[in-house]
Amino acid sequence: MSTGSPLLTDLIEALRCLPGVGAKTAQRMAFHVLERDRAGARRLAERLAAAVERIGNCSRCRTFSETPICALCTSDARDASLLCVVETPVDQLAIEQATGYRGRYFVLLGRLSPLDGLGPKELGLDVLAQRLREGEVQELIVATNPTVEGEATAHMLAQLARDANVRASRLAHGVPLGGELEYIDRGTLAHAFGGRQVL
Ligand SMILES: [Zn+2]
Repeated sequence: MSTGSPLLTDLIEALRCLPGVGAKTAQRMAFHVLERDRAGARRLAERLAAAVERIGNCSRCRTFSETPICALCTSDARDASLLCVVETPVDQLAIEQATGYRGRYFVLLGRLSPLDGLGPKELGLDVLAQRLREGEVQELIVATNPTVEGEATAHMLAQLARDANVRASRLAHGVPLGGELEYIDRGTLAHAFGGRQVL
């Protein structure tokens, strides 16, 4: 592809690192900012550089943080007896936004996947085990995704909790609110049926 400007070609190529952005979209984005919004593009470039340079991971819960320990881990307003384990920082954000959860988190930054080189150590399970041994956590809430790897991860987390004598719970999965039984996939329906609750 030739745009007449190597810088422009490089920009289009670089934009493709964003999820869901293919060649056409990248091209549209690059032409858009040059034609119409150079100020916005400059701001984006500055924020991107600052975020990439200054955001690291909390040493206690592993979520994104600009400080060695994140605000959630240091906040007195959070219940230290509850620890919710999620796969990614964005899962943590989803729980924060959707629920009234007031406990703390531990972020695995992945899920068990030996083929991708993700084992217990990469997921920080040694750090988590140490934390459970400290005795403050009373309940480990396992909020990994209901995928094959997420389930395998959940089993390992449950074992970790058992070893530390900490109660473990798992997010319920089942019928989506507003859904209709006939349209729900069999696996989900079977899971929901098996996990039925007393009314
Ligand atoms: Zn933290």
